[in-house]
Amino acid sequence: MTYYKNTFDQKLAAGELWLQFCATCQKFVFYPRSLCPSCWQPLTDWKPVSGRGHVHSYTIVNISVLPEFKEKTPYIYALIELEEGFRMPSSLINCPLDEVEVGMPVQITFIDRDSKTLPVFKPRERTVAEAISL
Ligand SMILES: [Zn+2]
Repeated sequence: MTYYKNTFDQKLAAGELWLQFCATCQKFVFYPRSLCPSCWQPLTDWKPVSGRGHVHSYTIVNISVLPEFKEKTPYIYALIELEEGFRMPSSLINCPLDEVEVGMPVQITFIDRDSKTLPVFKPRERTVAEAISL
């Protein structure tokens, strides 16, 4: 587990999101693990992902029982669906609480906390293809 987590964290520290990629299924796998959850083959490849996606679902956290998050309330906690076809839970920053909505286009960004780099998301403009499909 340490190997998988270290690779993931090292790429985050460099400002990039890399995920394991199953060569058999031709799919990205999130979260890091030793075997593909679909075909059970060992996962050895890593590839960078775009970091672009949209809000699949979200909640606004008003009360946090975790001390490290109490000062940040209220904040948006969202399930992000990335272009590469997987969903990732994360915080949504730089977004007024009354503007978040399902389908909102977002882009990954990174924050430093307690000497670790964490992936979070922020709103972005729709691409031309996204605007046409509306
Ligand atoms: Zn697979």
